[in-house]
Amino acid sequence: MNFADLGLSDKLLQAVETAGYTEPTPIQAEAIPAVLMMKDLIGIAQTGTGKTASFVLPMIDVLASGRRRARMPRSLILEPTRELAAQVAENFEKYGSNHDLKMALLIGGVQMGDQVKALDEGVDVLIATPGRLMDLFERGKIMLNGCELLVIDEADRMLDMGFIPDIEFICDKLPEARQTMLFSATMPPPIKKLADKFLTNPKQIEV
Ligand code: AMP
Repeated sequence: MNFADLGLSDKLLQAVETAGYTEPTPIQAEAIPAVLMMKDLIGIAQTGTGKTASFVLPMIDVLASGRRRARMPRSLILEPTRELAAQVAENFEKYGSNHDLKMALLIGGVQMGDQVKALDEGVDVLIATPGRLMDLFERGKIMLNGCELLVIDEADRMLDMGFIPDIEFICDKLPEARQTMLFSATMPPPIKKLADKFLTNPKQIEV
């Protein structure tokens, strides 16, 4: 399998080449075409499998067209920890460096002022931990009804950290007509239930 067979744009194929990747990992080979076809997705995969690029690369292509609006992020990636959120942000910077995509990182432990300013300027990709996102939502600084792409990453860790009620709250604020991707190393019953509730006819990939 070749990256060129997956349906990514030439610009992204260049980014992949710059990153030094010669072939897609198994999860990338299955996930990238599905995400480009706007399908919902369940990826049962550990870190180290290349799962981040499996959603970041096609998301960049999907988001490459369209308009930003103040306080209405176009996509949302939920991460359980600040460190993971920062890593995903680095991935967007690495693969999306030749795209005009605005990204914001909403994590705890940093001042809200800059985050609010970024939201006001319009964001294509919002990467957030649930706590800070809920906080800004409750303060009226962010609207989620324009967010048509959602990634719930490391869902089993979200469960361990007690974030499932926050995730349910957030999912309920997103438009129903959206694309949702859920990644988890394991599929315990509460995660299965979450997926049943918030994903529509998902393609399931297990690596
Ligand atoms: P992840 O599973 O997303 O945490 O990625 C693990 C590591 O694999 C990261 O350091 C990536 O840069 C790297 N990686 C992702 N995709 C590929 C690929 N197709 N070929 C080689 N390395 C990759």
